[in-house]
Amino acid sequence: MPLITLKVQIHADPQTEAVLKDAMFCATKVYNGLLWHLREEQKKTGRVDISRKNLNRILKELPRAKGYYSMSVQLTRDEVREAYKSFFALKKKGLTQHEAPGFRRKNCLSPLKYIQSGFKVEGDKVTLSLGTSREDGVRQVSFRISHRPDIEYERVRELSIIYDKDSGRIEARLVVEVKARENNGRGKAAVDLGETVLMACAFHDGSVILYSGRFIKSVRRYWQKVQASLRQNSRRWKEIAHRERKQVEQLLHIAASHFIAECIRRGVKEIAIGDLNGIRQGIGYGDRLNQRLHAWPYRKLIDMLKYKGALAGILVRDNVDEKSTSVTCHACGKVVASNRRHRGLYVCSCGWRTQADINGALNIYERAYQVSPVKGSSGRVARPAVVSYLLGWHGVAEPKRKGKPLRASV
Ligand SMILES: [Zn+2]
Repeated sequence: MPLITLKVQIHADPQTEAVLKDAMFCATKVYNGLLWHLREEQKKTGRVDISRKNLNRILKELPRAKGYYSMSVQLTRDEVREAYKSFFALKKKGLTQHEAPGFRRKNCLSPLKYIQSGFKVEGDKVTLSLGTSREDGVRQVSFRISHRPDIEYERVRELSIIYDKDSGRIEARLVVEVKARENNGRGKAAVDLGETVLMACAFHDGSVILYSGRFIKSVRRYWQKVQASLRQNSRRWKEIAHRERKQVEQLLHIAASHFIAECIRRGVKEIAIGDLNGIRQGIGYGDRLNQRLHAWPYRKLIDMLKYKGALAGILVRDNVDEKSTSVTCHACGKVVASNRRHRGLYVCSCGWRTQADINGALNIYERAYQVSPVKGSSGRVARPAVVSYLLGWHGVAEPKRKGKPLRASV
């Protein structure tokens, strides 16, 4: 049964909220406490022991570990292990100058995670266990939740209480089992994400769909211009950021729904998406923080595709290495950077000539499934049938085009 993550609002009275925040603060103290002890050990012995056994021993010395549910404490412990593991990996590659993973900020509220036990969800009522040893004697809290109305799920597998920096509120995430639509399809699709063309989608039958990203781009530009005239992080500035996000999300939702419907229609069982490494430069996005900002719509889109795909019984994976897929000729396999001509056309000396995003999507398809959708038995490239769509508030539409439609020709 597929799992999806639901974003959930929490409606709690002030006392309950205060207790939850305190428990989250305890999680931060425990996280930092574990790190501190590991650092001290390292100073003395020269090595770091991140075994569960050692961390459990340290946990006994941390009074704040009594501030929340014991299984959640174990999950905080595992977060420390993960932090060390990725730190070791960076260190090995020489990508960090630090001696250990960093502490969380003092005012940081860490997530409270519950897997399988310690929580109960009945309708919109949630009850969480906080263990039996809190100083204030509180053993459990209850509150109400709400989420998008159109989602029906069978069972809640995991629950996390998190602090949402954007809204400044605590929220919940539920990992739920949903009933998927039966899918006996055998078709496949691959997606290349981009800015001018939001999604270039290649299907097993050789057809290609392009979703224009121009509207999203102009919406983002507009709000960013408005934002630029405001003081950063002021209330108005945050409001604008929120509005931009909502509008972009609506457009992404429209595109994702349309694409998934097309997949269902074509009997697609699997979708492969290129990783986000290719999405780097945008207009005026220079430093790394801005790159992160630039990439959020794509991460959001991938989440939507995973979730909508799961409901339709479609497997979605987003880790296809898209390195050089945009500069490789899909017909002859040559990698020539200069082949990517201006105005989004890919032209190769072998005769292959197509819209560059189509070429990219076909290459991602080939990389993901080890076979090209449009190579016939002779190994020659056939001609993909392309439909391109414009994206608007109310849906997607085929643009009225003067002159010839975009087609790949050999
Ligand atoms: Zn070529």
